[in-house]
Amino acid sequence: MTHEALTRAANLIADADALLVTAGAGMGVDSGLPDFRGNDGFWNAYPALGRARMAFTTVASPQTFREDPQLAWGFYGHRLALYRATVPHAGFELLRAWGGRLEHGLGVFTSNVDGQFQRAGFDPRRIVECHGSIHHLQCMTPCTDAIWPADAFQPQVDADACRLANAPPRCPHCGRLARPNILMFGDGEWLEHRSEAQQERLLRWLADARRPVVVELGAGTAIPSVRHFGQRVVHGGGRLVRINPREPEVASVRDCGIAMGALAGLRAIDALLHPRAG
Ligand SMILES: [Zn+2]
Repeated sequence: MTHEALTRAANLIADADALLVTAGAGMGVDSGLPDFRGNDGFWNAYPALGRARMAFTTVASPQTFREDPQLAWGFYGHRLALYRATVPHAGFELLRAWGGRLEHGLGVFTSNVDGQFQRAGFDPRRIVECHGSIHHLQCMTPCTDAIWPADAFQPQVDADACRLANAPPRCPHCGRLARPNILMFGDGEWLEHRSEAQQERLLRWLADARRPVVVELGAGTAIPSVRHFGQRVVHGGGRLVRINPREPEVASVRDCGIAMGALAGLRAIDALLHPRAG
């Protein structure tokens, strides 16, 4: 069954004129990035938060930035440094190669805030980061709608305590605390105009695609925004290849679900797209 599904996936990709990659947290696992699924996974990655019994939904909130900025920035500063140092796995390059051969090219819609598609060399004008980007900052208040790159901020984190050891970034306009331009939990202050502009640009690109195929990677049902966007494209006449080790089911027999991790699934499809390439 798996081989049949992989063959159908390869055919869907070969017959498309545009490739839309939609990706959730499962895409990063093969690059060695932690999966925050459940408290256990989260606390394995951040033992200090485990000792404090602090859930992901608590630390990832504007309230924690207000009450304990060194802790909140200890968590996000650690992640920022981790994502800056991470080398995207080989599956990113396979997707770039597939998209590069299609007449209308390649686009990305992701809930990941890690910037890995940009690091892997994808065209930043065709990437939507629907939950924002850790590589960008905004004012906590916010005093203006400014969003600026985090490049100048070099976090020094005491990982054992999950606390920022140096000064947190400041808003250049009012001098108050700055935070990542990421949609957090219980977040009424996230500035979403950067993400909205990305989405408008991607929809303009998609409007000219005649036979788009969506390749969805590691996007579960728990955070549905990635699946919803892919579904829009499918309703508009596109096709779907879903690669997900836990939730591979697809609604239509025209589409294709593959119960594999992201990198393994991409490699298996690639072997069928290029049977003689070895
Ligand atoms: Zn400000």
